[in-house]
Amino acid sequence: MSIKSVEFIKSAVKPEDYPPPDKPEVAVVGRSNVGKSSLINAIFKRSVAKVSSTPGKTRLINFFTLNNDIYFVDLPGYGFASVSQKERLSWQKMIENYLLNRENLKLIIMLVDTRYPPTNLDILMKQWLDTFEKQYFVVGTKIDKLNQSEKAKAKKVIKETLDLDDNTPIFLVSAKEGTGIDNLVSEIFKAVKE
Ligand code: GDP
Repeated sequence: MSIKSVEFIKSAVKPEDYPPPDKPEVAVVGRSNVGKSSLINAIFKRSVAKVSSTPGKTRLINFFTLNNDIYFVDLPGYGFASVSQKERLSWQKMIENYLLNRENLKLIIMLVDTRYPPTNLDILMKQWLDTFEKQYFVVGTKIDKLNQSEKAKAKKVIKETLDLDDNTPIFLVSAKEGTGIDNLVSEIFKAVKE
């Protein structure tokens, strides 16, 4: 399955502003600076998502369509060092509303940076995802930064640190070099169209 078209639909905060739930949906989440915008650009093969956007400016849920067939959703990142407790709570509320209310949501893609073991916030995010009982993939980013032996260990470190069960797929990608992107796209389409 290849991507023939990408369209930005809208940004939203509240459920009443989401587009109608008339297509299967996949959402991407990860801590800030994990490489989310770069991965989205690599998936879209065009610069729709802004890379290295200023912290605080991307606090919206952005809806796109791929091939006019599925919704692809860019969720705001977590873990900005500079945000206040109030902003953290509003992020949490926005994501919780989304995960609880989006009936057409089929798959969540959670990103982690392969250069480091998943952080405590990543562990919390994973535990939180478990409570929503939706399917998710874990995607390790920036593998071009790893040497061979680090690459060989990366999946094990991610699996153990996040305490993933054996059925949770882990993909390793490099947005910079394009590694793993086509495979990830085809697994996304498979998962949401089932
Ligand atoms: P976001 O905050 O999660 O959207 O992260 P960005 O996509 O803006 O990327 C954060 C930083 O990581 C930027 O400096 C990117 O150039 C860098 N980056 C993102 N993806 C990759 C990758 O695959 N390889 C390498 N080497 N750097 C990457």
